Amino acid sequence: MRQVVILGATGSIGCSTLSVLARHPEQFKVLALTAATQTSKILAQCLEFQPRFAAMLCTKAAAELKVALARHGCATQVMSGQQAINELAAHPDADIVMAAIVGAAGLMPTLAAVEQGKTVLLANKEALVMSGELFMAKVQRHGTTLLPIDSEHNAIFQCLPATAQQATQPVTLAQMGIAKLLLTGSGGPFLTRELNTLNKVTVAEAIAHPNWSMGQKISVDSATMMNKGLEFIEARWLFNCAPSDIEVVIHPQSIIHSMVQYTDGSVLAQLGQPDMRTPIAHALAFPNRMSSPVSPLDFSQLANFSFSKPDPERYPNLFLAMAACAAGQGATTALNAANEIAVAAFINEQIRFTDIVRLNEKSLAHFLNYAARSLDDIVALDFEARAYAQQLVRTLN
Ligand code: NDP
Ligand code: MG
Repeated sequence: MRQVVILGATGSIGCSTLSVLARHPEQFKVLALTAATQTSKILAQCLEFQPRFAAMLCTKAAAELKVALARHGCATQVMSGQQAINELAAHPDADIVMAAIVGAAGLMPTLAAVEQGKTVLLANKEALVMSGELFMAKVQRHGTTLLPIDSEHNAIFQCLPATAQQATQPVTLAQMGIAKLLLTGSGGPFLTRELNTLNKVTVAEAIAHPNWSMGQKISVDSATMMNKGLEFIEARWLFNCAPSDIEVVIHPQSIIHSMVQYTDGSVLAQLGQPDMRTPIAHALAFPNRMSSPVSPLDFSQLANFSFSKPDPERYPNLFLAMAACAAGQGATTALNAANEIAVAAFINEQIRFTDIVRLNEKSLAHFLNYAARSLDDIVALDFEARAYAQQLVRTLN
């Protein structure tokens, strides 16, 4: 029986993880659930899965949860605050930690799990975008098993040679006979929208992804394709490769989740429904396989697959992220921070959709050559870049 901690249990990935775990009670026990503020959602999860611990970032939400659990006679122990979340991520009884907090807030608890050599299932791509070099060094040092949940990275991982999947030392693409990683993306809801109307995009339009159901932040990132940019940076670290080894391909149907091109001309792809419960089940069961609630692909029902190159005019955020990736860890930390502020400001209707890239561009230009080597540097730069971006939000409206 393996014990699982879910960081960000009430979110889209957290709920999908619980839906997979519910099918396999003989293999997994939920040890702890964490969330920020959503008391009623985590209450229902605690009643169903009876974890030993639940932690809320918000102290008031934790107090409410405690009362509600007592009323239901549920023995889950409630904790609160950032430190409690970090502690649960590193709990001695935890075997698997699902890192599914959104944004930079996921960095510290994810690193806490990495430092304890847990099996870490990584959905929180922002952690790698901020700290890739340092993060991967810790993975090595602590013998952590790191399994990608992001569907593209999970697909690439599945297409790697089995020996490389289980290697304890970093392997280069050349050693695996790989020429290129092909990172696919749907292009989001505005693939064909008139460019001169993008400044009129509403929040509801931006979060209505054509293929995937996800949290708000990543949905907006998918609409700007910053999500693919963050994934580009994520892939560079996860697969120990150079930015020039990664090519982004638009594939609007979201059935091919990414591909690996080998030097002999073979291309391996992983296909499936656009449903995160497939990569989650893959990672939970790795190196074995187990069932998930996802319906099988029916090829007789699939329309044609199409592919194209991303257009820099339509998706400038993708190209900004690629530039940041080439510049280094300081640039990617600052861009990630700016983007979180910009997306939140767009969701709060303080800035327009097209202002997101303006704000990101200005922030990246400002912080492009900042170095961020230690964790302290990264945290300080994240803070500074957020303040800078907040200031830009004020000047933009
Ligand atoms: P959601 O917004 O749906 O969920 C976020 C979760 O994190 C919630 O449980 C939330 O708690 C919690 N949370 C938010 N802020 C904090 C904080 N400051 N401290 C502690 N917990 C916090 O996000 P998603 O599930 O969509 O995404 C999670 C991560 O997975 C992101 O990094 C995303 O990029 C990545 N990902 C998501 C995919 C998807 O399909 N959704 C696909 C691939 C990657 P509460 O509910 O209480 O606010
Ligand atoms: Mg993805």
